[in-house]
Amino acid sequence: MYTDSHCHPENKRFDNDREDVFARAKAAGVTTILAIGNGDGPGTGTFDCAIKLAEQHDGVYATVGIHPHEASLAKQADFDELVRLAKHRKVVGWGEIGLDYYYDHSPREVQQQVFLKQVELAKAAKLPIIIHCRPSDNSENAWEDLLRLLRENWQSGGLGGVMHCFTGSVDQACASLDLGFVISFAGNITYPKAQNIRDAASMVPLNRMFIETDSPYLAPIPHRGKRNEPALVTEVARQIGELRSVAPEEIGRMTTENFYRFFRIDSEIPPAS
Ligand SMILES: [Zn+2]
Ligand SMILES: [Zn+2]
Repeated sequence: MYTDSHCHPENKRFDNDREDVFARAKAAGVTTILAIGNGDGPGTGTFDCAIKLAEQHDGVYATVGIHPHEASLAKQADFDELVRLAKHRKVVGWGEIGLDYYYDHSPREVQQQVFLKQVELAKAAKLPIIIHCRPSDNSENAWEDLLRLLRENWQSGGLGGVMHCFTGSVDQACASLDLGFVISFAGNITYPKAQNIRDAASMVPLNRMFIETDSPYLAPIPHRGKRNEPALVTEVARQIGELRSVAPEEIGRMTTENFYRFFRIDSEIPPAS
């Protein structure tokens, strides 16, 4: 039993075989999937992309939110739309939102403003947030700003969140745990240069951890460079299991339990088939 806690199944790269992708996930034991609802960004009418898939599939849940890449496009009508969609019964979190100082597709000040606006909306909706954080090369800049903004504007609400596709340091993982966040590890944990990610994954308590694919991006070794898909979250479990001397199935079971507990999903965990 595995849970892919973060993926983008609406992505155009799945248009030709999306149902096969869901079927392969199920066949691999991936019983639960969180589909991220950034869509094509503000003004495109696609914030409901993950909700649509969640309505069609048992065990698929959804988020809504504006990605930092598209922050500069956000208008009040987009925030209103997100508030409306966030009430859907299968929306369990707000995201992915955050700061990306690597690509800088939107000015950093605007990224921060749109992040803070969504933090307030998530608080009102009583939803945890899913964070995307990527600093410039050889810098901690986005982490410094993010952790400060979370301490000042989010921590006291007690809703917590998820550090998705964690690529930070052990210190940043500890700071995130102190803020009540769960750390989610993706397929890049298998990459040779990713020792910092493996160091963090060796330390984060197993009851505070998720695993994800971020598919169609970031395929784990030995699939690196190809399209990723939810079934391959099993490779992330295998790598973490190796680091922690725990069977991958056990990593899958624990991270699935974490997912249901964290998002307060009422339904029974689907039986392993
Ligand atoms: Zn991301
Ligand atoms: Zn993502």
